[in-house]
Amino acid sequence: MKKEKGLLIVLSGPAGVGKGTVCGALRKQDTDIQYSVSATTRKPREGEKHGVNYFFKTRDEFEAMIATNGLLEWAEYVGNYYGTPMDYVQETMEAGRDIILEIEVQGAQKVRKAFPDGVFIFLAPPSLQELRERIVGRGTETEDVINERMTVAREEIELMKMYDYVVENDQVEHAVERIKSIVTAEHCKRERLIEKYKELAEVEKEC
Ligand code: 5GP
Repeated sequence: MKKEKGLLIVLSGPAGVGKGTVCGALRKQDTDIQYSVSATTRKPREGEKHGVNYFFKTRDEFEAMIATNGLLEWAEYVGNYYGTPMDYVQETMEAGRDIILEIEVQGAQKVRKAFPDGVFIFLAPPSLQELRERIVGRGTETEDVINERMTVAREEIELMKMYDYVVENDQVEHAVERIKSIVTAEHCKRERLIEKYKELAEVEKEC
């Protein structure tokens, strides 16, 4: 039987909703899902490691990646570049393994165009008030950046309609369980199994 390609899973949603925490919790669990490490021109926050959280780049280095088509998608977000290195994503999917991208909504829209059969999950906050409290509570941003991020967040929530699934991040462990259930269900979708079970599909056509 032919091996299925891995799933491309996009986890997106407003800044501060906890995409990083949810992805981190998913990464710690023993799943077969690989994680795409993004490139960014943002400075590392305390505790962040090059190659683990991000590949930290200068603007020149990032622009060179754009120029050589090394990125699957990229976006400018609150004054910095963020992008997904292409090679790792393609190699992982070709090897039949699932990969998750944790990216903001502009990037997710670009990925949707390039990979229409990706799995698009919107991580939603329980409320806007709670979202603000989470951004403030992180304590790493100035008041101006917090306000700018809240404005962007409202616009991002408007885009919820372009996603296949909405997962509320009320509690990290619940969100992780919902994401794992979505991935399991996606693997069972008939359209994804047509190649694998070509003979059965032929029988289905005759019926
Ligand atoms: P932060 O600076 O808080 O780590 O990330 C800011 C935003 O950029 C978050 O919404 C995060 O999901 C998003 N982001 C991280 N990596 C990428 C990427 O490779 N591409 C895009 N488009 N957004 C990203």
